[in-house]
Amino acid sequence: MHLLLVEDDQQLVALLQPQLEKAGYAVDVAVNGTDGEYRGNEDIYDLAILDLGLPEKNGLEVLRSWRAAKNRLPVIILTARDAWHEKVDGFKAGADDYLPKPFHVEELLVRISALLHRVRQQPGGMLVVRGLSLDEDRQTVTVDDSKETFELTGTEYRMLRYFFLHPDRILSKSRLMEHVYDFDSDKDSNVIEVYVKRLRNKLGNNLIETRRGQGYIFKSHL
Ligand code: CA
Repeated sequence: MHLLLVEDDQQLVALLQPQLEKAGYAVDVAVNGTDGEYRGNEDIYDLAILDLGLPEKNGLEVLRSWRAAKNRLPVIILTARDAWHEKVDGFKAGADDYLPKPFHVEELLVRISALLHRVRQQPGGMLVVRGLSLDEDRQTVTVDDSKETFELTGTEYRMLRYFFLHPDRILSKSRLMEHVYDFDSDKDSNVIEVYVKRLRNKLGNNLIETRRGQGYIFKSHL
């Protein structure tokens, strides 16, 4: 999962970014509205957290421009406390959710998770595909038949979650890289092969199919 954080408050970014990454998201930061708008149109993000008070172009303008361009990126806006008109304007501009500042990071995390589930029409807290349950809080996966539970490393978890949310379609290595790592990570696509192999070792060989030259398919049924 790849998040775009559009926020000019450096202190808040320094607080949020590591916690979002710890929760298993790859995070890119834009510190002004112009850059935020541009990046939000890149079609690699699963969700944006958008501050409204931004230099160069405010958050509402950014959001309106995305929506005018039929960009449906799920967006949580960060509003000033008690500024009810910001919430109204934000929803009218196409926001999916809002959070008044200051907020607890835990609340932002549950709102991100809830919105991602809503977008994918999956129930919250647990992702279930093909007899496997992915526990998002514990970052573990359980085989429903044997009740065997596997712990996942951060990268394994991010990859498996992306597979769970995008079953039955070809996912290229570069797409997986974008969602499993952030922009600053070392981008060696062999790493993807290594992690697919590790997931197969844990969960069985026929779960993830290799399409030579194209990528991988996570199969929701045999
Ligand atoms: Ca701001």
